Amino acid sequence: DLLANKIAAGEVVERPASVVKELVENALDAGATEIEIELVQGGLELIRVADNGSGIDSEDVPVAFERHATSKIMEDKDLFKISTLGFRGEALPSIAAVSRVEMKTRTENETAGSFIRIEGGRIQEIGVTAANKGTDIFVRDLFFNTPARLKYLKSIQTELGHATDYIERMALARPDVAFRLTHNSRILVQTAGDGKLPHAVTAVYGRETVKQMVDVEWENYDYRITGLAGYPELNRANRNHCTFLVNGRYVKSFQLFNAVQAAYHTRLPIHRYPVCVLHLQLDPTLVDVNVHPTKLEVRFSEEKDVYAAVQSAVQSALERSTF
Ligand code: ADP
Ligand code: MG
Repeated sequence: DLLANKIAAGEVVERPASVVKELVENALDAGATEIEIELVQGGLELIRVADNGSGIDSEDVPVAFERHATSKIMEDKDLFKISTLGFRGEALPSIAAVSRVEMKTRTENETAGSFIRIEGGRIQEIGVTAANKGTDIFVRDLFFNTPARLKYLKSIQTELGHATDYIERMALARPDVAFRLTHNSRILVQTAGDGKLPHAVTAVYGRETVKQMVDVEWENYDYRITGLAGYPELNRANRNHCTFLVNGRYVKSFQLFNAVQAAYHTRLPIHRYPVCVLHLQLDPTLVDVNVHPTKLEVRFSEEKDVYAAVQSAVQSALERSTF
């Protein structure tokens, strides 16, 4: 019901960047290879995400906006096995509860696409339309009906910063997907989607940074760690330039960052921090990445082992490097 959706929205939708995250995850889950994200006024006026993924079958369009209707978890133990980024079936209903949503979508097998318009969780219009294969969703006037939430938002620049940061991480996580982020029609992030991590890193951090990075390729019985690690340019004295993917999911983790930093020990001048993109693969039963829908936290059951593995992986990569 409407109220439950509005309450759930408080959990899932904190700010424009959370909407961007949920919509991009849906696009990735749908197998998209091209994702375009368009923001107007930091996403407060408009968040549009267009993808070339599977699309949604016309009969499933209203269902996608019903809470838990699409939940992919049948039992607790299934949590370990989910291969999609989304599984709660909460994002679309939550977003639609606190904004004005329009969506166009078409699957490969359909000749006509579907159209739906929802305001504050109520379906206003539903029908057929011409559409490309994939999904094109517009989210306008976020929090128009929840003034308390609206008041809590920061400046356009701050909100845009959160959304941009997230898209940059996804671009690094998925070099096989072409991302384009625009703000007020200006391109902020654009990647080729050619599958090459150094190209994605160049798009996000620039050519000079990628020149000073080395391949990380390490494994033992329990962990496999791959990616790139290197040194920041002088003007990037900042702790935020390491991106961690755990079994394909982007997470934020001070522990992992500390392990990377430990690997550099005396190699970094003061006030300079590592730049890296690291994929960790491990037995999914040893990790809980679902602590909170918006927080991107991760918990490892063998914390010390993970720390040691990451440190070793980065250390051996740096030892092979010539700088
Ligand atoms: P979840 O991702 O947790 O399943 P969501 O509320 O994010 O729940 O999405 C509901 C459902 O709508 C998804 O399970 C999926 O079937 C469908 N869906 C949403 N966005 C897309 C998209 N961009 N492309 C294809 N299907 C989508
Ligand atoms: Mg989802």
